[in-house]
Amino acid sequence: MKYDVIVVGAGPAGSSMAGLLAKDGHRVLVLEQAVFPRFKIGESLLPAELPVFEALGFAPAGAAVDKAGADFLDEQSGQFARFNFCDALPGTRGHAYQVDRATFDRALAEHVQALGVELRFETRVRAVRASEHAADVELESGETLQARYVVDATGRERLLCRQHKTFERLEGFGLAAVWAHFEGLSDEAEHELHVEGLGNITVLMLERGWGWVIPLPGRRLSVGFVSAEKGVVSEEFWEETYAASPKLQRLTRGARRSPLQRAGDYSFKNTLPSGARWGCVGDARAFLDPVFSSGVAFAMDSALEGARLLSSALKEGREADPTLLAPLTRKMEHAYHVFGALLHSFYHTRLVEHLFFHDEPNPELRAGLISVLAGDVWRDDNKFQQMILRSARRSERRRAPAPAV
Ligand SMILES: Cc1cc2nc3c(=O)[nH]c(=O)nc-3n(C[C@H](O)[C@H](O)[C@H](O)COP(=O)(O)OP(=O)(O)OC[C@H]3O[C@@H](n4cnc5c(N)ncnc54)[C@H](O)[C@@H]3O)c2cc1C
Repeated sequence: MKYDVIVVGAGPAGSSMAGLLAKDGHRVLVLEQAVFPRFKIGESLLPAELPVFEALGFAPAGAAVDKAGADFLDEQSGQFARFNFCDALPGTRGHAYQVDRATFDRALAEHVQALGVELRFETRVRAVRASEHAADVELESGETLQARYVVDATGRERLLCRQHKTFERLEGFGLAAVWAHFEGLSDEAEHELHVEGLGNITVLMLERGWGWVIPLPGRRLSVGFVSAEKGVVSEEFWEETYAASPKLQRLTRGARRSPLQRAGDYSFKNTLPSGARWGCVGDARAFLDPVFSSGVAFAMDSALEGARLLSSALKEGREADPTLLAPLTRKMEHAYHVFGALLHSFYHTRLVEHLFFHDEPNPELRAGLISVLAGDVWRDDNKFQQMILRSARRSERRRAPAPAV
């Protein structure tokens, strides 16, 4: 057989998985429907990606600017909080990047090609037929390719989730987003974003949701608003929210705005993320919500763990085992659980007011919160993480129907 693994999708999850497997000596083909560079949202990265960059030997260089942490700002009340990753619990990585995804995804794809991955652009996969005996990939062109294993890294297009009808909608988070890029920022804006602002993302607390302000390379800025209510991501919602923000007016003075783009109904879970000779990584497994920028981190972390499990199975001829990726499922379920609890507190409690904007927060809880914001969720010494998980369990118990008597 020509290929050990066929990966569908060349986003951060697919390219990382392919590159790590190729580094380990496996023959890998990536099939990507688009031509790169192509636009993608998901520009604010976390320190949790750094171990994956290192494992791949990849540096985002020109596609990225440095990000020290995350700022939260309520312009109406004037409340502000800055969480720099270097103030997290010991062991959490201390910095991250903001990236232009078109350039970043292309640079990562080129990097993994140099590691030996074969990549075909403009190749859309129609279906995957996998069993304990074989794995076939059917292309839109009518061609069928075989491999010992197939990885679904198709992002929110979730090829296998659709094919198997294993979609579960996640309720209770932000409902829809509208965003634009601004180009040609002034010297003053660049100073405010990168010198005073340390390259941080700013999360704007809004009456009807929240907004993101993400500095990008090349004097550009990504601005988006997320609504927690149904049906309000209209152009008027954008215009009103943008006009009401002194920070945005200041930062974008004299800059050119791109057309608005929108996304909605994005919070979901694939209830069957792997089987015999196939597995999903990245958003094809689940996507929760954009507010804490966990998407690319979880995409790359799932690829790192998936590649580790699959690589040794391929060497030992165990790749048909349907339980091969069960440890990956446990690892990612834990991550979704922690972020799900944080998101629930963000959208439905006064977490931001009581903890984020608190003048003298408990230092241990604050450091623990920053570790979670950095995506460092697989540790057992984080009191903040334990606290939000306990509180999530209490609300689940309250929501559960009373047992029948
Ligand atoms: C509004 C919004 C804001 C966000 N902001 C952030 C943020 O600030 N930070 C962050 O980390 N994340 C953010 N995210 C999430 C982020 O976009 C994703 O988590 C991330 O892109 C997932 O990477 P991936 O590799 O799994 O999938 P993707 O990046 O979506 O890549 C999937 C690839 O598969 C290809 N593909 C799909 N179907 C097929 C097919 N049938 N055949 C061949 N190729 C196919 C696609 O063309 C694409 O290139 C945001 C998401 C939303 C909705």
